[in-house]
Amino acid sequence: MEVSQFDRALAQAPSVAGMRALRLSTGGFFFAGGILGIFAALTMDGDGVARVTVTGIGLLGAISGLGILALGQHLPRQGYHAAVMLGTLMVSAAVILADGRETSVALSTVYLFGVIDAILLFTLRVALMQIALSEVACAASLAIVGVPVGDIVVIAGSSVVVAVSVGWLSRAAQAAEEDPLTLLLNRRGFDRRLEEELSCFHRTGSHLSVVVLDLDHFKTINDEGGHDRGDRVLVECARVWGPVVPEGSSLARYGGDEFALLLPGLPLGPAADLADELRSLSPYGVRISSGVAAAQQGDSGSTLVNRADVALYEAKTTGRDRTVAHGDPDRSASELEQAIEDGQMVLHLQPVVQLSTDEVTGYEALVRWRHPTKGLIPPLDFVPEAERTGAIHSLGAWVLEEAARLTMTCAGPRRRIGVNVSVHELRTDSYLERVAEVLGRWQMPGRLLVVEVTESVFDLDDPLVLENLCGLRELGVGIAIDDFGAGYSSLGRLEELPIDLIKVDGSLIEAIRPDTYEAPILEAIVAMARSLGVRVLAERVETAHQAAVLKRLGYDLVQGYLFGRPQPR
Ligand code: C2E
Ligand code: MG
Ligand code: MG
Repeated sequence: MEVSQFDRALAQAPSVAGMRALRLSTGGFFFAGGILGIFAALTMDGDGVARVTVTGIGLLGAISGLGILALGQHLPRQGYHAAVMLGTLMVSAAVILADGRETSVALSTVYLFGVIDAILLFTLRVALMQIALSEVACAASLAIVGVPVGDIVVIAGSSVVVAVSVGWLSRAAQAAEEDPLTLLLNRRGFDRRLEEELSCFHRTGSHLSVVVLDLDHFKTINDEGGHDRGDRVLVECARVWGPVVPEGSSLARYGGDEFALLLPGLPLGPAADLADELRSLSPYGVRISSGVAAAQQGDSGSTLVNRADVALYEAKTTGRDRTVAHGDPDRSASELEQAIEDGQMVLHLQPVVQLSTDEVTGYEALVRWRHPTKGLIPPLDFVPEAERTGAIHSLGAWVLEEAARLTMTCAGPRRRIGVNVSVHELRTDSYLERVAEVLGRWQMPGRLLVVEVTESVFDLDDPLVLENLCGLRELGVGIAIDDFGAGYSSLGRLEELPIDLIKVDGSLIEAIRPDTYEAPILEAIVAMARSLGVRVLAERVETAHQAAVLKRLGYDLVQGYLFGRPQPR
């Protein structure tokens, strides 16, 4: 799996080869080569036609150089490969046209420009092709004008020696900027690129963002799996992220378990989206927090990275496993968290009814946001956002606390209460502790609580989720699969999971036809549940006909507007 330094050099351009370096060096070489060509033409012997043509080639080279210097940032990398090839052909034409030994030999030194440009800035594979082309063109054109073989060997040989030494020296210098484990840039290399891109940002005012990514609980990975496992995780991160980051960006291992990504041309929002994408690609189910900041006028490299670090700190202290973008209210957990603190959340309870007895056996707790200006906001309008910003952890904690309070302080018999739990909460290692603490404080028996999770949770195959669910079962807490049948259920996994209730999605209840009592899918689900020893509940029951069909099929528990809407207590 690990890539050798040589393989990588073959396929990857040296770290100095930013667009700016490509533009300045290639443009500069073209311009200088052109001027030198014109000078050689003016001083050479021979007929007027050759002199005019060589002057023309020199002029073309100089003008192309100016063009590349001015507009080279719009040229793709392959454009530079083609330019160097074209330059080699132009030098060959000039060498042949000069046709006087001294001037031809003098002009042949210009081949070196292309050789140095290629070895410094292209991948080794492309550089070797360019150098081979240059050597053949040099030898052939000098032979055509009658330069003795010995002289050709000296001239072509010197340029090979220059190419090898420049290539070796530049790649040795690059090693000082490389992390030996992941082969990404190290902090020193990143800081140099950052300074370069910042000066470009201050000049042009285009966007520039920095993302810092930090592995959550890396110490535990090292402690439990040994340093080898820790190393493997880091190498794997570099491997899966490498192909995803945009061309021209710089991904670095910034510290022990911290990565940094420099994104020229990207504003804050898209940079944060990219950070989310990288987090979702983390290997071995490792969770990652990230902080993002965009460059502002007057920023130095350290102020910019500091802002990204502040955002990362916020991500770490508000539940981890999330991205916070510095200065972006949409990416900050604070609005919803403030609303929770200000008491703007309410729980509505919807009764769960036993069909055989018509008795209310429990409730489902459904959260709403009583917004001071926007009115009552339904959960689907803010839960996904809370999951993205990480506020879901505070929201989940509030819902659990309120559900326990409502259950334990109600008059009359105590009934089970279902709370909806996000997968983000189940992927937190303190989750189980939090539930146990709330149950203990309210002296609430575990059996009065049901945790509702959607079936997608089970596709994750995350050991921590499973561990938390098993821990909940040990506390006596019930586990329900919510919205069953709405997505692609992994039926095969049902048997391994510690569930005791299947909540059949309302879309399947809605599909019950008014003119029949047949509902083969609902029938199959109830049979499967029975064989697994798990109870079933039908959601969103709205009509008496639906209730009658469900009763006939053997559904015992139901929930829906027919039996009661969600209401505040
Ligand atoms: P869910 O857990 O499947 O909740 C059932 C949804 O169906 C609720 O929508 C409920 O109001 C609605 N419903 C109940 N009976 C009927 C009916 O007869 N007909 C129709 N058309 N709808 C009915 P609600 O309250 O808007 O909640 C939507 C989803 O938001 C919930 O789906 C749940 O996934 C999520 N949610 C609600 N509260 C929380 C919470 O505290 N935490 C988390 N993480 N998610 C929550
Ligand atoms: Mg639910
Ligand atoms: Mg549901």
